[in-house]
Amino acid sequence: MSGIAERIQSVVASLPETARLVAVSKFNPAEAVLQAYNCGQRLFGESKVQELTGKYEVLPKDIEWHFIGHLQTNKVKYIAPFISLIQSVDSLKLLKEIDAQAKKVNRVIDCLLEIHVAQEETKYGFSFDELRTLFKERAFDVFENVSVVGLMGMASNTEDEVQIREEFRLLSDFYKEMKDSLAPQFRELSMGMSHDYHIAVEEGSTLVRVGSFIFGERVYA
Ligand SMILES: *Cc1c(COP(=O)(O)O)cnc(C)c1O
Repeated sequence: MSGIAERIQSVVASLPETARLVAVSKFNPAEAVLQAYNCGQRLFGESKVQELTGKYEVLPKDIEWHFIGHLQTNKVKYIAPFISLIQSVDSLKLLKEIDAQAKKVNRVIDCLLEIHVAQEETKYGFSFDELRTLFKERAFDVFENVSVVGLMGMASNTEDEVQIREEFRLLSDFYKEMKDSLAPQFRELSMGMSHDYHIAVEEGSTLVRVGSFIFGERVYA
């Protein structure tokens, strides 16, 4: 069995029934995706449009692709025909474009709203208050071809597990608050990467996005 297969199986075996593995294959070749596919993995995440469309074209069509990176509005059209979940919606403008492109291909595209909880300045995403306001204003109801099914977030890039857990808990509490009030349709909370997915799962993650642990450290980023 390949190293990739072994590592996929170890992650999957460690997850509760309520959480799924998104194998983040960015910066890795299609052959690496195929190795993971051959041991049963069907859910993959990519963060660059061109890299994703290249892999989509050459790989089996029963793969479920999630987009997890910063998405520019002018590139939505390239992934709208096949993407199964866009996890990284960070503006209303982007959601509007996804809706327009989804309409053109006669689809309803599932989306997660990206939340900013980490301390890094550079991370994209909405704040809790922004989202409370948007949901109260029913800002998402006008979009017929997108379905907002939950939230995605990243903890700070730190070794401090107490801080990581605190950030995941904030996300999880907010997710529950929204699901119990303004967004009963919520069903996915995407949080956790290679170094912190164990903690994320304990705090209620339903989708863990694991890349380097499975495919090895990336040579470039
Ligand atoms: C790259 C990436 C991941 C995977 O990170 P690893 O540390 O390699 O597991 C998860 N989520 C997002 C948004 C990413 O860009």
